Amino acid sequence: MKIVIIGGGAGGLELATKLGKKLGRNGRADVLLIDRNPVHIWKPLLHEVASGSLNADIDSVSYRAHAHNYGFRFKLGCLVGVDHQRKVVELEALHDEDGEEILPRRSESYDLLVLAIGSVSNDFGVEGAAENCIFLDSPQQAERFHKRLVNRFIRLNRDLRQGHSERRLRVAIVGAGATGVELSAELFKAREWFATYGLNHIRSDHLQVSLVEAGPRVLPALSERISNAAREELTKLGVEVRTSTAVARVEADALVTKEDESIEADLIVWAAGVKAPDFLARLEGLEVNRANQLLVDDCLRVKGAEGIYALGDCAGCQITGDDGQERWVPPRAQSAHQMASRVADNIIRQHQGLQPQAFVYRDRGSLVSLSHYTAFGRLMGGLNQGSLNVEGRIARMAYVSLYRMHQLALHGWLRTLLVTLSDRINHFIRPRLKLH
Ligand SMILES: Cc1cc2nc3c(=O)[nH]c(=O)nc-3n(C[C@H](O)[C@H](O)[C@H](O)COP(=O)(O)OP(=O)(O)OC[C@H]3O[C@@H](n4cnc5c(N)ncnc54)[C@H](O)[C@@H]3O)c2cc1C
Repeated sequence: MKIVIIGGGAGGLELATKLGKKLGRNGRADVLLIDRNPVHIWKPLLHEVASGSLNADIDSVSYRAHAHNYGFRFKLGCLVGVDHQRKVVELEALHDEDGEEILPRRSESYDLLVLAIGSVSNDFGVEGAAENCIFLDSPQQAERFHKRLVNRFIRLNRDLRQGHSERRLRVAIVGAGATGVELSAELFKAREWFATYGLNHIRSDHLQVSLVEAGPRVLPALSERISNAAREELTKLGVEVRTSTAVARVEADALVTKEDESIEADLIVWAAGVKAPDFLARLEGLEVNRANQLLVDDCLRVKGAEGIYALGDCAGCQITGDDGQERWVPPRAQSAHQMASRVADNIIRQHQGLQPQAFVYRDRGSLVSLSHYTAFGRLMGGLNQGSLNVEGRIARMAYVSLYRMHQLALHGWLRTLLVTLSDRINHFIRPRLKLH
């Protein structure tokens, strides 16, 4: 049986690892992972790549090496089409930075297909957003933002040294969900470390971060208590938090609000909402919801096609909440992780001639980290199955442990322990920030 997994992200790479270990290594199935990138970076860390707290060159996982270690194959490729009648996926031609073709347009056959291609930012068609904003959907985009940030800091430091004391670096972030909030705090940390590493004319008030949110409060998915606490901490850091402010259009150097106010900025980041890639809505015979997510049944099989599963941000999976209301499983790393486990078990069951089992989503809570300053969140479950608000060091530890859990799913205990150790060593021997 040939199992093709498209997308090696939070869910897809965990799935490929599990299936590689269970079915690939012993030759019971041919497990093939296809991703448009050669390396994996856990997406919730992209804002740290953007600020420079995380060096993508060091912290990424090479798909090829990982595939070699865990019994699956890897191919570089970008999915553009699925012919579910012929059981074939279409992959776009790949080009290098100079436009030279690396691989031509190809197709790949499958017996079982898993779509795990994640999501992209949703600019809701706001005029000028696509042209003038930086998005944090991929490691390349996060690194592009980082390079621009570094160059802006260098220029600002020179201007301030030359006596232009009025100069500022102005960053506007649209969307005060977890990504916008976490990125705001990360930028202040980056400012601190750049000052430490020689750009010492830049003081805290030379960085102006405007966090612009259409809704009435930051972190709308979290409780009002956490939202208020986060807003207070952000304001203390120096972030200008502007709630109930809808963006009407984006210009090259400014956001223009619905009230026609202009918020000038040197760098503009769009972090408001996500949707699955648009081409999913054009796949013949497959149904999507308003966020372009492929509709799946309770076992995570794509409706309208045989032999296709979908998981993570690109899957539209409906659940019934405690209040009896139908809602979609939220696009989060924990959902992708839980879905990957269910799909892995279902594929293994299918291989054994057993019926697949239904997916049950368990909300484990949410955590938001304001860089090294503080963290907030709500943990669900535990002994009494209730929820627990956490803050400060405990919340920060819980936040870091989420990434460790992902590493555990990929590398097992021993390697995760070694990786954690090497992270501690790097903490001492490397600069605290990527400086170029
Ligand atoms: C900055 C940021 C911070 C976040 N923080 C949190 C957090 O704190 N907690 C939380 O739970 N969630 C967080 N999220 C959301 C979380 O990252 C996603 O919900 C999660 O990564 C979804 O997993 P996935 O496997 O569905 O997709 P992804 O992890 O996005 O992986 C998709 C993979 O598919 C590949 N791919 C995409 N398109 C194609 C194609 N056409 N062909 C081939 N390959 C393709 C990509 O290269 C990628 O490897 C955050 C997201 C961002 C952007």
